[in-house]
Amino acid sequence: MSVPTVVALGGNAISPAGGAGTAAEQTENLHRTMMQVAELVEAGLDRLVVTHGNGPQVGNVLIKNELARDVVPPVPLDWCVAQTQATIGFTIADTLGYELQRRGIERPVVPVVSRVRVELDDPAWDDPSKPIGPYLDDEDEVARRQAIGQAYAQVPDRGWRRVVPSPEPRESLDREAVQLLLDDGAIVVANGGGGIPVVAGVDEPLRGVEAVIDKDLAGARLAEELGAETFVILTDVAGVAIGFGTDEERWLDEVPVGELRDHQAAGHFRAGSMGPKVEAACRFVERTGGRSVIADLDHAREAVDGHTGTRVRP
Ligand code: ADP
Ligand code: MG
Repeated sequence: MSVPTVVALGGNAISPAGGAGTAAEQTENLHRTMMQVAELVEAGLDRLVVTHGNGPQVGNVLIKNELARDVVPPVPLDWCVAQTQATIGFTIADTLGYELQRRGIERPVVPVVSRVRVELDDPAWDDPSKPIGPYLDDEDEVARRQAIGQAYAQVPDRGWRRVVPSPEPRESLDREAVQLLLDDGAIVVANGGGGIPVVAGVDEPLRGVEAVIDKDLAGARLAEELGAETFVILTDVAGVAIGFGTDEERWLDEVPVGELRDHQAAGHFRAGSMGPKVEAACRFVERTGGRSVIADLDHAREAVDGHTGTRVRP
């Protein structure tokens, strides 16, 4: 069997911007995405790991937490991530399984509830910066939540939004399970939503922590750990642009990692959107000598084949 390919799916693969976010809509959207993924398998990718974002889904769980807090105890963020891994994971198993069967391919699709180890001395703990959940405009409510230890940042014209630390993914703790499943011919869904963030203690079980790991960085980490040759990030734009949204906008096709790092240093990639994707793509290429591709969701096959998107090479 060949070396694995890791494909990271962005928010649009699950819930389109402006959609209602119902379960039916998310399922339908994932199904459409899985047609693309099934094509990859049909084209001969026999070792495939899918990872995915979960931002809107975690946001919804947090809203339910708050609305129901007088009835059932709110659950911490690591639980929220685990819940979204499960629902997105089984929906991928259903829809991708169906699309493979339709193509005469008998392969199990197995979602793995995946933990990712982070460290308590990560500088991210002093700088909660990842916005999650809904915007709030009631300052008393913000104060109440700050009093229970949550951090909030004010966004001009939109209100207040919870921010959490986004520490580095150090280690995908379930990578051996992923490897065994790949060895046995399964297509695996892993490290969803960046993975469930846990820290290792001394003489005690792993402990979940209130953080959100970036899903592109966690995908790159897993790709590296599995010895993948290609790390693919599928999103809602054609790839990486410099001068994005300006008159000077230029889309990158083939780019050596050093050159992409130069563009990054020049500030072309926004935090919270293209920034982490570029960082993840660069890390994977630098650490493994493999290649990364950032491309749009509707051209997965061409992206893996190196015919579209931004291709980052050593
Ligand atoms: P996903 O949800 O798919 O993980 P994001 O929405 O976080 O992805 O990031 C993709 C978005 O990044 C694009 O829709 C685009 O608007 C934005 N973006 C910001 N900077 C750039 C850039 N330099 N090149 C391309 N897209 C960019
Ligand atoms: Mg998005």
